[in-house]
Amino acid sequence: MTVDVALGDRSYPIHIGAGLLARAGALLVPLAPRGRLAVVTDATVAAQHLAALTQSLNEAGIAVDPIVLPAGEATKNWANLQLVTEKLLALGVERGDAVVAFGGGVIGDLTGFAASILRRGCRFVQIPTTLLSQVDSSVGGKTAINAAAGKNLVGAFYQPSMVIIDPDLLDTLPPRELRAGYAEVVKYGLIDDFAFFEWLETNAAALLAGDAEARVHAIATSCRAKAATVAADEHETNGRRALLNLGHTFGHALEAETGFSDRLLHGEGVAIGMALAFGFSATTGRCSGRDAARVAAHLASVGLPVLPRSAGISATGKSLAAHMLQDKKMSGGRLAFILVHGIGQAYVDKSVVLADVEAFLD
Ligand code: NAD
Ligand code: MG
Repeated sequence: MTVDVALGDRSYPIHIGAGLLARAGALLVPLAPRGRLAVVTDATVAAQHLAALTQSLNEAGIAVDPIVLPAGEATKNWANLQLVTEKLLALGVERGDAVVAFGGGVIGDLTGFAASILRRGCRFVQIPTTLLSQVDSSVGGKTAINAAAGKNLVGAFYQPSMVIIDPDLLDTLPPRELRAGYAEVVKYGLIDDFAFFEWLETNAAALLAGDAEARVHAIATSCRAKAATVAADEHETNGRRALLNLGHTFGHALEAETGFSDRLLHGEGVAIGMALAFGFSATTGRCSGRDAARVAAHLASVGLPVLPRSAGISATGKSLAAHMLQDKKMSGGRLAFILVHGIGQAYVDKSVVLADVEAFLD
């Protein structure tokens, strides 16, 4: 199935299907005018899946130039941006060529940014291999590397030409990474799609166990939600895209508290953050306690943490609030919190007093 991202002359298709990797070559022929494609990937993904992608491309008459980087968040740095960009130039990649990002969000963000600056912009294609990247980072055109001052602080809005999603790739993903990505799936239901949240309550177990139909439905629904949001607010200027940050202000503070270490994966921080956003909204009378409890129960039922201490983090409200003040989503000295009136009813709230958040967290 195909979901379209409607952005005028920068529109692109997201192709989704079990086993689609085998058809990647046929899909990519129009994006390989020289009959070769550079594929940027990480060592873990390369070991498990690069042979299959290469075979598919070769069968379509496309030669592959692989660029394999180490796995992990630390890869998203200046040194690798330079390395990838210089390699692409040495390979003779031209503006009309596409560069393929084959991996999770780390590879997608870095490769997209490299494509945005290569010869002032060449095309690129996302073939995401983690659940998080299949439902979130591969769609929407945010690209970045990390800087000394913080995560994702250097980058560009730069849309891919195509996204190819094969849920079968998730078979090799560690369960903890799968669950972390699942938190971002739940997020779409919590923002504005109560029916999807209900569907997830019924189908989460099958989805996480690898049921192909459930996976495709969840990924397609997530991509459709993200595509609509991005089409309405590509550059995060009118507040619509900000809703995608539900759970992220709290989550980001928790990640910062752990020094962005493996102790807390991004999606785990988001799970706790969403539970806290509902908890805070309930405590302050914005939404019902029943909805808050229902959200926490669902996240916990799949093994996601819903409280800082269930992830082994004991932070004071004060220290978490201090991290929130560092958040790049601050504007005019005020934090915009994404709060809720209920499940599927998220909104941007600029009236939140940080001291109340501190007190709630304590
Ligand atoms: P990741 O790319 O580091 O992948 C997680 C781990 O899974 C890595 O060790 C990787 O090697 C491994 N892996 C990937 N695919 C695999 C597979 N199929 N089988 C086995 N192992 C596999 O992390 P991620 O969670 O995909 O992405 C996180 C990154 O995405 C962060 O840098 C974050 O800032 C970024 N992000 C970007 C956006 C955006 O809009 N651009 C949105 C959300 C997150
Ligand atoms: Mg996120």
